[in-house]
Amino acid sequence: MYRCELCQTIVPAGRRSIKVVLKTRPRTYAPRGSERQERYRGFRGRRPRKTTPYDKGGVGTEIVQEAMVCQSCAEEQQAKQQAEAAAQAANAPVAVETPDAPES
Ligand SMILES: [Zn+2]
Repeated sequence: MYRCELCQTIVPAGRRSIKVVLKTRPRTYAPRGSERQERYRGFRGRRPRKTTPYDKGGVGTEIVQEAMVCQSCAEEQQAKQQAEAAAQAANAPVAVETPDAPES
């Protein structure tokens, strides 16, 4: 049993709660890790300790807010997000996908 965070209704026991993402924000990940150091020899000629793999970073989204909601709210939220995505696609006809993505 839990209370839906959107409609504030108490959902009876035995019903699944659904987590929906309410808000996301764009996030740029900075490159991290070290680039491989060639020809480097550590103490007494031993190989240096393995460094963390290099991650070139990138762009993504980050969850700002999410809520535990009931089935009907989840569906509503999903529909809303789909509508928003469609609206965004209509507003920006320029493809956001990577240029080498196969055309469907
Ligand atoms: Zn609800």
